[in-house]
Amino acid sequence: MTADLLTGVRSVLFAHAHPDDETLASGGLIAELVARGIHVTLLTASRGERGEVVAGPLSHLAGTEALSIERERELAGALDVLGITEHYWLGTPPARAAGQPERHYRDSGMVWVREGVAGPADDAATDALARAELADVTADVAALLRTTQPDLVISYDDHGGYGHPDHVRIREAAVRASAQTGIPFAELLDEPAPDARWFELEHRRTTMTDALRWHASQLTVFGDEVVHSGGQREAIRPSVGLRIVEAATISSVTDEHELVTER
Ligand SMILES: [Zn+2]
Repeated sequence: MTADLLTGVRSVLFAHAHPDDETLASGGLIAELVARGIHVTLLTASRGERGEVVAGPLSHLAGTEALSIERERELAGALDVLGITEHYWLGTPPARAAGQPERHYRDSGMVWVREGVAGPADDAATDALARAELADVTADVAALLRTTQPDLVISYDDHGGYGHPDHVRIREAAVRASAQTGIPFAELLDEPAPDARWFELEHRRTTMTDALRWHASQLTVFGDEVVHSGGQREAIRPSVGLRIVEAATISSVTDEHELVTER
């Protein structure tokens, strides 16, 4: 399945936790797929309300409702650059289980457990994504998959990339929803692995960087790096790996999966 992962794939749905994740974790790949004529749909789980704001002209938005609106605007700009024309928010139909009232999944916030590994904030709101029932989140993702019927679903690896509880949550929901709807699921890897397909995407760096500039409340672009609002530096890496997660593996994952096992 590795070499021909995209054979016959005409549409892909990416499931991400917050605005900016789509570009940071998969911007190069999204631009590549769009250039290949593959239809890309994005599902974003929360508006990143808990994120810190880059010091400067947008600082006053921290902790306000206006930050959600600004992040929606930033995301729309980034999606324009990446070539995504179809976007959904988790909890809003069609990304909402039939018969359920619309809901907003809020950003859960995070604390650094140790260098490079995040865990949930102690004061995550009751309507936070990481506190939502996994079955409910899964039902919402599955509702969207039934409507959009992508050929492939892509989200983070089982650590959510770096352990953010919202990333882990949306990844767990996406693997289950994919299994329920019979759609293949692939996880994003940031280095090559024997059982993964590696996409060398240096030629998408400019597009990815231009999309990242839109997320100005969250990060600042400096050459080949971004600096996050909290001061962490991160290299811009267009190249990624994709590894298919077989449905058999998915069903063995317990619903009581600990959000963070690193403590
Ligand atoms: Zn995120």
